[in-house]
Amino acid sequence: MPIYEYQCQKCSTKFEAIRPMKDADAEIACKTCQSTDTKRALSLCYSKSDGRSGGAASGGGGCGGCSGGSCGSCGH
Ligand SMILES: [Zn+2]
Repeated sequence: MPIYEYQCQKCSTKFEAIRPMKDADAEIACKTCQSTDTKRALSLCYSKSDGRSGGAASGGGGCGGCSGGSCGSCGH
């Protein structure tokens, strides 16, 4: 489910909420002052834990078995 970020217009608190996409613009109460005078900020992606792209980025040419850049098992 997507994570949405909201900001309270009353106390300026920013908070996140995980909600179904259809409820993204539905009214939500501020977690600090309980005001419903809130507005949605940018919506964050729901895949902070995307293992695939993270693994590719951290690959850097080496292999999992060698940390220093050269080892016999991967040829680097
Ligand atoms: Zn508030």
